[in-house]
Amino acid sequence: MLYKRSSELFVEAQKYIPGGVNSPVRAFKSVGGTPIFIKEAKGAYLYDEDGKKYIDYINSWGPMLLGHAYPPVIEAVIEKTRKGTSFGTPTEIETQIAKLAVSMVPNIDKIRFVNSGTEACMSAVRLARGFTGREKIIKFRGCYHGHSDSFLIAAGSGLSTFGVPSSPGVTKGTAQDTLLADFNNIESVKALFEEHKGEIACIILEPVAGNMGCIPPSSGFLEALREVCDVHDALLIFDEVMTGFRLAKGGAQEYYGIGADIVTFGKIIGGGLPVGAFAAREEIMQKLAPEGPIYQAGTLSGNPLAMAAGLAMLESISSDPEIYNRLEEKTTYLEKGIRKVLSTNGRTYILNRVGSMISVFFCKEKVENFDDAAKADTPEFKEFFHALMKRGVYIAPSSYETWFITDALSYEDLDMTIEAIGAATR
Ligand SMILES: *Cc1c(COP(=O)(O)O)cnc(C)c1O
Repeated sequence: MLYKRSSELFVEAQKYIPGGVNSPVRAFKSVGGTPIFIKEAKGAYLYDEDGKKYIDYINSWGPMLLGHAYPPVIEAVIEKTRKGTSFGTPTEIETQIAKLAVSMVPNIDKIRFVNSGTEACMSAVRLARGFTGREKIIKFRGCYHGHSDSFLIAAGSGLSTFGVPSSPGVTKGTAQDTLLADFNNIESVKALFEEHKGEIACIILEPVAGNMGCIPPSSGFLEALREVCDVHDALLIFDEVMTGFRLAKGGAQEYYGIGADIVTFGKIIGGGLPVGAFAAREEIMQKLAPEGPIYQAGTLSGNPLAMAAGLAMLESISSDPEIYNRLEEKTTYLEKGIRKVLSTNGRTYILNRVGSMISVFFCKEKVENFDDAAKADTPEFKEFFHALMKRGVYIAPSSYETWFITDALSYEDLDMTIEAIGAATR
């Protein structure tokens, strides 16, 4: 029976772990069925506990830009591990990775390492508030910045521009300080600045939204946000946890030629170990403890194993001038193939892509914001997901997630994927 051992392991896991998982989307709630338990992975492939092989389009939700068990990362971690796993003191490797990251990314002078993207975004907002002396922040509906309280906010009802908690446990007080705007709608941002003059510390956004499917910024949107922030002395935070080191060496800032004030990282920067980071120019970073008064800390921050993995990853990327061209070519090839088979099969769909991020939405109209993406959360997507999984192609188990293309994919893998998509939608 397919997925037999995964099913057994899931039953056991649910006895001791809420929902059987340590992060919700893994539980397959939005597509139904039993999550597959993975035993090992190599290159572009996952192998589950029942011995089935999958071509992987999630790649640990982004980090595995160069494929699973990438040898330079594995070797670096093994070598470091032998020397001890944590000291609670400064280590040389922290400076090595910081120096490299600062050289790759525009507009940053210093970088602070943390343990997750959530921590990076939470700390970036504190830094923006401390720096500007203001309390309110603007975020966009459908953008994800981790699970800290300030970000678990939904749109309030009626004419109120204040958010309301989107999860029990988040206080009304916290929700009051998060203002919600619509992605790709600059007027919704300007209206908030008018209504809350002198109160807004920052705008935080995913420059390419990747957590409501992949939604590119419309032409002029990022430029307009930059301008609004400059006019109102607010900071622009690019959450590049997903786009950082994926769209270009310098992330979305380089890809679109727009400078942010604070940038957050996660995923690729840790090479598959738990790492996040936030960075900015000197004037802002000097406000951070211990140099400045804005507090931020972490017992395992800058952990040697995590830094070794991240450094090996960034070194591989920075020493390969062709990496982003190859990713672009592979993803374009995949895009063309998917369009061809879906059209041949008479499916109605929207395909969004930026660089090596791609999403297929089963809907008619363009997908440019959260409401558009919500229309594509359909039974058709669930069927598509399961039909692909059965054929050995593993995409994200939710229509609100992006596919991440890895350089480990061969053109043969891409052809097999396109064929599977054709068969799954016939
Ligand atoms: C994944 C993600 C986060 C959260 O990172 P974690 O490491 O899961 O805490 C934040 N922002 C964006 C854009 C992400 O994709």
